[in-house]
Amino acid sequence: MKNKFKMIYCKKCVIPNTRPNIEFDIHGICSACNSSKIKKKIKWSERQKLFLNILKKHKKLNKNNDYNCIVPVSGGKDSVYQLYQIKKKFRMKPLAITWRTLARTQQGEKNLTALKNIGVDHIDFTVNPEIINDITKKSFLKFGDSSYIDHLCIYNLIPNLAVKFKIPLIVWGENMFFEYGGYKKEANQRTQTSKLINNHHILKNYVAEKWLSKKISKKDISPFASPDEKKLRLIKYEPIYLGYYFPWDIKQNHKIAKKVGFRARESGPIMGLYRESDIDCMNIVIHHYFKWLKFGFNRVTDHASNEIRKGRLSRKKAIKLIDKFDGLKPPKEYIRSFCKQINITEIKFWEIANKFRNKKIWKKNGKKEWYIANWIAGDKKADRFKHVKLSKKEKIFFNN
Ligand SMILES: [Zn+2]
Repeated sequence: MKNKFKMIYCKKCVIPNTRPNIEFDIHGICSACNSSKIKKKIKWSERQKLFLNILKKHKKLNKNNDYNCIVPVSGGKDSVYQLYQIKKKFRMKPLAITWRTLARTQQGEKNLTALKNIGVDHIDFTVNPEIINDITKKSFLKFGDSSYIDHLCIYNLIPNLAVKFKIPLIVWGENMFFEYGGYKKEANQRTQTSKLINNHHILKNYVAEKWLSKKISKKDISPFASPDEKKLRLIKYEPIYLGYYFPWDIKQNHKIAKKVGFRARESGPIMGLYRESDIDCMNIVIHHYFKWLKFGFNRVTDHASNEIRKGRLSRKKAIKLIDKFDGLKPPKEYIRSFCKQINITEIKFWEIANKFRNKKIWKKNGKKEWYIANWIAGDKKADRFKHVKLSKKEKIFFNN
């Protein structure tokens, strides 16, 4: 049977229809571009008033608690910005919580020192690596996703600790459905509920309890088990998006994060167009690379689309950048480290990669090289992308 699937791209930005959770309108415009139009019409000052009222309410509600909110922090520019705003601008008493990925980079570790400069209490939460590595391996083989476990853990750890510490207010960053494309109902949400986030393709609606086995007990997964909705209601849980109340712009976030010591990658972007993105975890870079295989686009497409929406890049230039960089492979050192973490060979890694290469969009040419049919940067261009190279400094770290 002839395969009829065709890559179609948003007429404004460069996002393809293969992106999960995206919708296109009758004019061929994606939901993320439509969100950015809506964004200009939002009465931000009214939303900011609402935000201040929420803070006031929680300050009062939690006056006997040591903290009046939780800010989830990866050590990336966005979370450093969130924390800075909450502590310095809005004078809250936040508890910063990090889910410690086992693939943290040296730069990620260094950037957490920005927290010291903001001046907050901080939990750098590590779950037993034996459990995490086991699930990382299984979920990589099952979903072709190296970061499923990191996403599952951070999104569940926060509500679970909120219950333990009795801190109802959580300040998350942006609503991914609104900023990067998603269905209207989810995009309009001001709070990040478990139901909402489980529906996002990064969590695949595959809850922690599905990993229970003879080897993995309920207690083993308790930090990232599905949160107890009843207990959340009892503490009056309110997990809000800062991006609902203030216009979200990663470039602006970076500027503020820089002030308190956050540093971007010196030798250029690790993947995509921003030097300040995806630098705290090695496995997230591998996660993004699998987007290239599954959906035929990667971070250059994401970042360029964002820049087009912000009016800082033309579509023509974006396509040129995609042509040059979007298929770059993760640094060899990252892949080696990931294989070591989950105890597989590099041959096995590439076998899995090939398994997840979406054959609806990837075809082979006469030389048996893969290409994306109807790729935005040109049809039938072979995937000859190289690995991203680490700088000397970074290499020294990985050789240790
Ligand atoms: Zn678009």
